[in-house]
Amino acid sequence: MRWGDMRRSDNVEDVTGGQPSGGGTPFGGGMKLGGGAMILVVIVSLLFGVNPLQFLGMMDGGAPPAPTPAPQSKATQPGYGPQVAKGAEDPDKGLSVRVLGDTEDVWTALFQAMGSRYEPPKLVLFRRSVVSMCGRASSASGPFYCAADRKLYLDTAFFQELQNRFGAPGDFGQAYVIAHEVGHHVQNLMGTMRDYDAAAGKLDDRRRNALSVRLELQADCYAGVWGFYAAKRNLLEPGDAEEGLRAASAVGDDTIQKQTQGYAVPDGFTHGTAEQRMRWFKTGLQSGDPRNCNTFAAKAP
Ligand SMILES: [Zn+2]
Repeated sequence: MRWGDMRRSDNVEDVTGGQPSGGGTPFGGGMKLGGGAMILVVIVSLLFGVNPLQFLGMMDGGAPPAPTPAPQSKATQPGYGPQVAKGAEDPDKGLSVRVLGDTEDVWTALFQAMGSRYEPPKLVLFRRSVVSMCGRASSASGPFYCAADRKLYLDTAFFQELQNRFGAPGDFGQAYVIAHEVGHHVQNLMGTMRDYDAAAGKLDDRRRNALSVRLELQADCYAGVWGFYAAKRNLLEPGDAEEGLRAASAVGDDTIQKQTQGYAVPDGFTHGTAEQRMRWFKTGLQSGDPRNCNTFAAKAP
């Protein structure tokens, strides 16, 4: 993926800098869901902790570089932009900031086409733990979107998890993770999430999980829609689609459950199987049309 050619987003809050690099009990608590069953939507309900060594590896000196005093062309912006010396940019952060910027461009155009206005979400880059309006979360919970404060939360150490634990390396796999969370934001703006909350509150666990799967698969499809436009503008490279599909497969509930407990329990699925996640991602990726992402209308998603 040619993410270096994507526009940097201005909607990033980097709070990784103020975190101490050792001590404490960083991976204990997991996540508390605040107010309402599923305000907080997690891409992966990880059932395990995260290896602290992986975090030590990413202690890169924290805050983004200060803007350079040199005059900037219109095309560049302070921070992670091209004016930062090669090697100074944390690639995981750089990718995140630029993929987010690109999703802003794509969804702004798509909302415009629908006669509506896209209000971009904020991306909070954190390390180890973070407090959102949906509660406190640790890195072990994986990236998530909080509808209450309209922010995406990402510890970029998850990208290493994706590669090492889930066997899904590659930058487009990382982009898929971000685009999926942006997909939840799109659902929030479109009112889908509000409808989901209202409906889910009246359901038993099994039915609520089934509805949650549809919500998650739609976010996968929306991630694919973004991918379609990235491809159309020549920002993808050969193999990227496969990388994205591999990531979608790797974070399928069945894949994760089999990996962690040796078998899969379909009623416990909240995100969808590997096959479902790949199929809906592909639906968006091949059509570029959000209207094809109506997982709620599909008889069997
Ligand atoms: Zn999700």
